[in-house]
Amino acid sequence: MQTRVEQCDVLIIGAGPAGSVAAALLLKQGRRVLVLEREQFPRFSIGESLLPQSMEYLQQAGMLQAVVEAGFQYKNGAAFVRGDRYTDFDFRDKHSPGWGTTYQVQRAQFDQVLANEAERQGAQVRYQHTVTAFDADAEKPRVAVRHTDGTEYIVEAGFVLDASGFGRVLSRLLQLETPSNFPVRGAIFTHIEDGIDVPGFDRNKIRITVHPEHCDVWYWLIPFAGGRCSIGVVAETAFLEQFKGSETERLQTLVMQDPASRALLENARWDTPARQIVGYSSNVKSLWGKGYALLGNAGEFLDPVFSSGVTIAVKSASLAAAALQRQFAGETVDWESEYAIPLKKGVDTFRTFVDSWYSGGFQKVIFYEKQQPEVRRMIAAILAGYAWDDSNPYVKESKRRLKTLEEICS
Ligand SMILES: Cc1cc2nc3c(=O)[nH]c(=O)nc-3n(C[C@H](O)[C@H](O)[C@H](O)COP(=O)(O)OP(=O)(O)OC[C@H]3O[C@@H](n4cnc5c(N)ncnc54)[C@H](O)[C@@H]3O)c2cc1C
Repeated sequence: MQTRVEQCDVLIIGAGPAGSVAAALLLKQGRRVLVLEREQFPRFSIGESLLPQSMEYLQQAGMLQAVVEAGFQYKNGAAFVRGDRYTDFDFRDKHSPGWGTTYQVQRAQFDQVLANEAERQGAQVRYQHTVTAFDADAEKPRVAVRHTDGTEYIVEAGFVLDASGFGRVLSRLLQLETPSNFPVRGAIFTHIEDGIDVPGFDRNKIRITVHPEHCDVWYWLIPFAGGRCSIGVVAETAFLEQFKGSETERLQTLVMQDPASRALLENARWDTPARQIVGYSSNVKSLWGKGYALLGNAGEFLDPVFSSGVTIAVKSASLAAAALQRQFAGETVDWESEYAIPLKKGVDTFRTFVDSWYSGGFQKVIFYEKQQPEVRRMIAAILAGYAWDDSNPYVKESKRRLKTLEEICS
């Protein structure tokens, strides 16, 4: 029997935030969009604390109302804790213009909201359809697809956007992967009923705690609506391997090593088995090629510490949709200068801050008590995701400016 061949303007691999936002933006241009998603939604995904910058792209995609109506936990900043030191950044008081608030979301629900919106706006979203092969040599890009019921078919598209996240479909199929420059780190995490009744505890902020003895080991606590939260620890895999037992036991042991976290979570109910993910940082030789581009995590993933992943994913969707608009209008698009370079600009800003976080320099900056208010506002803007705003000196010359600031704060 001959394999069926379907046609569409843009094929999107993956219905995570990058895929759904890209779909919505392309639909506004009148494109026929097909989204193929390997899993059945709702499904668990990590990456639960959004940054205000991401709201701009959700708004662009016409998805804001659906997100607001979903009732997620409001978020207005980030708190940092090291021993008895506490400092917080309010994203509404920041250097860059734009959104100063956002949400902390259970991704199973959030990703479903976005995918439903893409569908409502006119995309075809097919769950349990896995992209298995890609033919870049054909006149138009062709992908092979397998449905869980065993059927297989081909899709011929005007363009393919790979938004497959950690699936990294095209980078694997086309051997685009390159090692990340970061050491191999891992995370152990779960959702708990937190039972926090400590006066003054701020549920509107992500709480990042530095391990009492190791500055490169840290915990996140992301409060959700309804008295639950996400809790996780990040460290080099060699460090995590010292801890034995189930993932839940290892996570509990690590969390209890920090006295403030221990006190905060004394009434917590650990009702969900913890999970582990290791070696998530990745890079690629190129973010685009003939007939395709890589969005979000399918391209590069840095590190979870500044919660930048979803923001980078939806920013990449917006840049790719703008480039495709010109391409479908018959104009010549230089994907390097119109997509890869502008995207990498913000990624590189985050990279500078991630490097500095793990070497301890940025932690000195964060906990420095005599910080000038304007510098704090510039730092707050980056923590809020405005890593592409060149009017911020810590974006424009991030390496040099951050190094100088680290020296002042030492
Ligand atoms: C420990 C950790 C903590 C994090 N915390 C945060 C945080 O607090 N905030 C934040 O913004 N980011 C965070 N991130 C990053 C965040 O998880 C990702 O950056 C984000 O989910 C990327 O979105 P995406 O749309 O690119 O991909 P994804 O959300 O991964 O979506 C990709 C989709 O593609 C599908 N897929 C995969 N392969 C195929 C295939 N062959 N065919 C069809 N479909 C396929 C998958 O099923 C999935 O649904 C964290 C990451 C880690 C590792």
